[in-house]
Amino acid sequence: MAPKVYISGKLYEKADAKISVFDHGLLYGDGVFEGIRAYSGKVFRLQAHVDRLFESALSIHLQIPMTRAEMVRAVEETLRQNGLVDAYIRVVVTRGAGSLGLDPRKTTDPQVIIITDKISLYPEELYENGLKIVTAATTRNHPNAVNPRIKSLNYLNNILAKIEGSQAGCLEALMLNHKGEVAECTGDNIFILKAGRVHTPSIDSGILEGITRATVIAMARESGLEVVERTMDRHDVYTADECFLTGTAAEIIPVVECDGRVIGIGKPGPVTRDLRRRFQTLVREG
Ligand code: PMP
Repeated sequence: MAPKVYISGKLYEKADAKISVFDHGLLYGDGVFEGIRAYSGKVFRLQAHVDRLFESALSIHLQIPMTRAEMVRAVEETLRQNGLVDAYIRVVVTRGAGSLGLDPRKTTDPQVIIITDKISLYPEELYENGLKIVTAATTRNHPNAVNPRIKSLNYLNNILAKIEGSQAGCLEALMLNHKGEVAECTGDNIFILKAGRVHTPSIDSGILEGITRATVIAMARESGLEVVERTMDRHDVYTADECFLTGTAAEIIPVVECDGRVIGIGKPGPVTRDLRRRFQTLVREG
């Protein structure tokens, strides 16, 4: 079946799925998005993703031209029309087409785009052996600039850090906030395990409030682990017993090295592996 892309109420063949070059989403990165996953035909945490999308939109003063319930139905229907059961779903809302000029009041018709695709993941080998990361020199957006809690179409901050990671031979890069504290990776949140406790940067560290992050915090607490959301620095990461990243695409991926420092025993630790197993069960069983 040829993939179909949803654009503002209609489904288009992939080759015909187009929007205006005057859309401020393209011209200025003016818009918001979500990355969502479906497992065995069921969309994981769909309501949470739709809520975050609407909150991102509210924060950038963008009115999404449909209700949250309509968005939920549009995502489910697009997935169904594409005949996908295990899928990655990208929802994009742009400011809409306008004249060349920043002013959003000169735009009309915000576009709602839903793309469904196969999932592209880190290689399986990295889940077995763990990922190496480096700290990027590019700091995470200051919350008073573009707040990292907004999942905006302007991802240059993260892309610049990603380039630094790639140039150092790493698939992910650690980003610090403007105070030099650990924030998150370019597309994933970060966790460490130290002396039996799970630690992760708090929201006020300037991070995206990851939906996988929230799921993992709840799951870890349910399994009796103490989870601390706090300010963290690189020393915490270097001296951790275990470290892992969380994200919709990555799920839970172990980190075994940061800036050349071997973390723990240099292999995915038992807590990370256990959380990963639990997560796999959760996404399939709801
Ligand atoms: N941080 C950033 C910057 C992200 O872009 C993402 C999503 N790709 C995450 C964290 C993880 O968020 P989630 O678990 O909701 O996918």
